[in-house]
Amino acid sequence: MQTLSHWINGQHVKGTGRHADVFNPATGEVQAQVPLASTAEMDAAINAAAAVQPKWGATNPQRRARVMMEFVRLLNRDMDKLAEALSREHGKTIPDAKGDVQRGLEVVEFCIGAPHLLKGEFTDSAGPGIDMYSLRQPLGVVAGITPFNFPAMIPLWKMAPALSCGNAFILKPSERDPSVPLMLAELLQEAGLPDGILQVVNGDKEAVDAILDNETIQAIGFVGSTPIAQYIYARGCAAGKRVQCFGGAKNHMIIMPDADMDQAADALIGAGFGAAGERCMAISVAVPVGEKTADALIERLIPRIEKLKVAPYTAGNDVDYGPVVTAAAKANILGLVEKGIAQGAKLVVDGRDFKLQGYEDGFFVGPHLFDHVTPDMDIYRKEIFGPVLCQVRAKSYEEALGYAMDHEYGNGTAIFTRDGDTARNFANRINIGMVGINVPIPVPLAYHTFGGWKKSGFGDLNQHGPDSFRFYTRTKTVTARWPSGIRQGGEFNFKAMD
Ligand code: NAD
Repeated sequence: MQTLSHWINGQHVKGTGRHADVFNPATGEVQAQVPLASTAEMDAAINAAAAVQPKWGATNPQRRARVMMEFVRLLNRDMDKLAEALSREHGKTIPDAKGDVQRGLEVVEFCIGAPHLLKGEFTDSAGPGIDMYSLRQPLGVVAGITPFNFPAMIPLWKMAPALSCGNAFILKPSERDPSVPLMLAELLQEAGLPDGILQVVNGDKEAVDAILDNETIQAIGFVGSTPIAQYIYARGCAAGKRVQCFGGAKNHMIIMPDADMDQAADALIGAGFGAAGERCMAISVAVPVGEKTADALIERLIPRIEKLKVAPYTAGNDVDYGPVVTAAAKANILGLVEKGIAQGAKLVVDGRDFKLQGYEDGFFVGPHLFDHVTPDMDIYRKEIFGPVLCQVRAKSYEEALGYAMDHEYGNGTAIFTRDGDTARNFANRINIGMVGINVPIPVPLAYHTFGGWKKSGFGDLNQHGPDSFRFYTRTKTVTARWPSGIRQGGEFNFKAMD
């Protein structure tokens, strides 16, 4: 069995202590062991990064951007290899795994613009002989802690802006699918990144706590579940670090009576069941407005769900979704399904008996559709993170809007309608970070920013886009005076600019 490593100072370094199993979710077999770093191992990686960061920070931004340019070429070159490794550990289909790499790669492309994005501000003659300018300087050593569900995209969203800004970056990827992050580190070295500037340190809570306790770490970018996001945000901020944490989700899609019902049903199938529902931007709640709309939707959803092909990624490119990530994730999803039934929701499509010949030990979960879900039920309140779509029936637009507004999560949402007035009203009033209008998964492109509201996001800046360059730099403002009258001697009054 393969034993994975850390990536420290430009090489693979074996772990010295605890290890965890990495599964093949399709077969249920353990396919590798990943080392779980101790505090001492994490501290050593951070110290080594701190030693080399000043030189990288002083490298001109265009040279740093050229590393990103080459990295893009290498990511495209190795796309198939990366996607295969990703699918093997995560379980998603190959086209979906390629999408995972592609959406990360696009942020690397954005970072090629670092020289422009890092330009400061300049005021000529702010006073007699006085110029004022602001610089965007790197923070030093920063860290990213990332989830299992996008093992390429989210590490790339974090590392590319952080490195382009001149920081050294410590990546603590998910211990469930650590191979792709290690491959990304190898590619960055090939692209010309100096050794020690990117350290990939595998681990679990001990490694995360070591990051939180380490005084050299200036900033932490986290993506994962909300309880851990809150924990890291609170502890990181208390330690005086800059912290942004993105958490869980429960994304609602409102379907107005005037919507194209076939289009809405197709959108719900992809957004609800793609990647087995293991996306923070998955639609997990459909809210049709009016009984007629609800009935029309259910009528279209049932045959589409029954046709879904659930299989391992090796079964071909027509697979709709694969297994969920672990046996524990499967048990949690099926436990919530039982709760939904017990609490009175109507299970319209029942995937509980799903079995795949030859893959009986894999973590496959059949698709589920619940109707008549109400806000007090666990399946509505909790993030299921599985192939389970819940329908909540609303009598009016205001009631539908209220469901999405009142939910504690605020990552993404969508409305399907043909009416521009309703769409505008929705986009203006909704208290959710990313909004789709006739678009079910409104993930912003690399040059915009990504972030949820309410319990889906903690911190005041978003991921990627211009916000990432703000997050990974700090501003220094210089007031420079080159007066002709300097020979006149000292001035002791605190003066306003003339
Ligand atoms: P998770 O919270 O279990 O793990 C995320 C990271 O935190 C991992 O690196 C893990 O090792 C670490 N971690 C886990 N338990 C910890 C603990 N007790 N103390 C310190 N660190 C700990 O999340 P996950 O299961 O890997 O990912 C799925 C979750 O991520 C879902 O809730 C999903 O909605 C969310 N997510 C959010 C976004 C977003 O942008 N908002 C994007 C992707 C995923």
